[in-house]
Amino acid sequence: MSGSYLKECWYCDEMVVLNVPSLKNRIFHDECFGDYQKEKEEEKEEYVRLKIEIMYERSLRMLEKQEGVCLAEYKEAAEVVRDLARKDTSKFDSSHEMIAAMELINNRISTKVQYSVGRKRVDMLLPDLKVALEIDGHLHQFRIGKDSERDVEILNTLNEKESGWEMVRIPTKFIEKNVSKLVPAIKAIHREKQSLRAKNGGFIPSYYSRHNLSAQLQALDGVNDKTKTTYEILEE
Ligand SMILES: [Zn+2]
Repeated sequence: MSGSYLKECWYCDEMVVLNVPSLKNRIFHDECFGDYQKEKEEEKEEYVRLKIEIMYERSLRMLEKQEGVCLAEYKEAAEVVRDLARKDTSKFDSSHEMIAAMELINNRISTKVQYSVGRKRVDMLLPDLKVALEIDGHLHQFRIGKDSERDVEILNTLNEKESGWEMVRIPTKFIEKNVSKLVPAIKAIHREKQSLRAKNGGFIPSYYSRHNLSAQLQALDGVNDKTKTTYEILEE
């Protein structure tokens, strides 16, 4: 039998008897470790709860900064988003997603947030528009590019029941600057992708992947000049 070793418990400061000398980690009594874990778990829950509230407040301030946006018109949609976020803290990853949801709800577009499509999840599913929407921080995602493997998997699942679905990615900067143009932009990109597929045997041609600003702008026919300008800024 090996000798016993005494170490101070990290939680209660009393001694813990060990059979082996402790190495680098903190030492707890078994019971203390349970209490400590529980305390940390509660802190984490509180942190997530506060994170949601801060995200929500930030989304309202971002809306207030946008020209032509009247917050009173967003109150009902904002509260729907807030309640959903409080009920399920995994629903929104960012203020931008919250704003997008508010805009969609305001436009009476059915919106399923953090929706599972087969093995994948999309930020929002818009069955009325046949769009799987992703709110993306990366500007390059804005281009209409050929489908990634992930896109193909998601689209195959969605198109099984009824064809005509598209993935649409909208960058966070667009949400920040032009949220009132979100719905026409989504519709325009969906339309353009569908027409590209119709001309190319169901595929988005690979030359759409890069440096194709003119195609991007054509996709926005029906969206006003202010949006086009924003798209140009985003492309820079
Ligand atoms: Zn202890």
